[in-house]
Amino acid sequence: MKIRDLFVENNFVLSFEVFPPAGNGNVENLFSVIDELVKLEPDFFSVTYGAGGTTHDMSLEITSRIKNDVGWEVLAHLTCVQATKEDTAGILDEFKKGNIENILALRGDPPKEEKVFTKTEGGFEHADELVEFIKTRDDFSIGVAGYPECHIEAPNLDIDIMNLKRKVDTGADFIITQLFFNNDDFYRFRDMAVAMGIGIPIIPGIFPILNYKQISKIASLCGARIPSKLHDKIYRVSEKNEEVEKYGTEYALHQSEDLIKNNVPGMHFYSMNKSRHIAQIVQELPLSRKG
Ligand SMILES: Cc1cc2nc3c(=O)[nH]c(=O)nc-3n(C[C@H](O)[C@H](O)[C@H](O)COP(=O)(O)OP(=O)(O)OC[C@H]3O[C@@H](n4cnc5c(N)ncnc54)[C@H](O)[C@@H]3O)c2cc1C
Repeated sequence: MKIRDLFVENNFVLSFEVFPPAGNGNVENLFSVIDELVKLEPDFFSVTYGAGGTTHDMSLEITSRIKNDVGWEVLAHLTCVQATKEDTAGILDEFKKGNIENILALRGDPPKEEKVFTKTEGGFEHADELVEFIKTRDDFSIGVAGYPECHIEAPNLDIDIMNLKRKVDTGADFIITQLFFNNDDFYRFRDMAVAMGIGIPIIPGIFPILNYKQISKIASLCGARIPSKLHDKIYRVSEKNEEVEKYGTEYALHQSEDLIKNNVPGMHFYSMNKSRHIAQIVQELPLSRKG
C-alpha cells in the first residue's frame, strides 16, 4: 500500500525505523526485533540506506523481506551518494521487483572518508532532483526529510524550509523529520512550513535515548540540541545504560504525548534495532489509529 493513502485512511500513522546490521551483522537478530515490533502494529517500517550505497544489498534484502515475508508495509530509504541516474534507475527497478511502493528520497550524508557531499557525475545534487527523477520512473509514494532545527549545512531555517518546499513541489507526499528533543522546535518548524505553503503530512521523528555516548555522537552529527536538563540527567547516569534507557524512554513518552495533543498526523520512531523501549512508549500512548 502507498503511504500517501495511509494518511488518508488513518487518523494516525505509526512507523519504526530499522537499519541493516553493521558489517553484515546478524540479520536474524534484526528480524527477531522486527517480530516484536510488529506486535505494536506499526503502519510501516522504514529501512535506512548506508552512505555510498554501502548497505545497498542488505537494505534491499531487509526491505523486501519485511514487505514480502513478514507481510508488513515498508518505506525504503534511498540516497544520491555515489550514484548516477542509471544506478538509481537500476535500484528503483529492484525495489519495484521487490514489490516496494514507498521511497524516502534523500541526498544522503557524505561517505565516512569525505567531509562534504559531492555530486556524482551524472547523479543528483539535492534530494529534490531525486524526487523528480523517481516521479519519472514509477508511481512510488515518496517521503522526504525535514529538519526542525535546520539542516546543518543550511544558512538558516527559512532557507532550509524553502529548500524543503522544492522537494514538496517536485512531488513528495510526506515529510519525516530529523530527531529533536524540544517539541517547540518542531512546532515552530511546522508553523513555518505551513506558512510557506507546505500542505503534506509532517511526521515527527522521535529518538528514545538508550545510551549517552551514542546520542552525544548522533546529536552532534545531525545538529540536534539536547536540552540542558535532559543532558544533565543522562550525563549523571551515563555509565549505567539501564538508567539512561529508563530516563530516555520516559522523556520520549512525554515528548510523544505532547505531540499527540498537538495533532501530529503520525510518529516515526528511530528504533535503533531494539524493541523493548519502543513497546514501553507505544503501549502508553493514547492512539486512535483508524479513520
Ligand atoms: C527521516 C530521515 C531519514 C534518513 N535516512 C538516511 C539514510 O537512510 N541514509 C543516509 O545516508 N542518510 C539518511 N538521513 C540523513 C540525510 O541523508 C542527511 O541529513 C543529508 O545531509 C541531507 O539529506 P536531505 O535529503 O535532507 O538533503 P537535501 O534536501 O538535498 O538538503 C541538503 C542541504 O541542501 C539544501 N538544499 C536542498 N535542496 C537544495 C537546492 N535545490 N538548492 C540549494 N540547496 C538545497 C538544504 O537546505 C540542506 O541544507 C536521514 C535523515 C532523516 C531526517
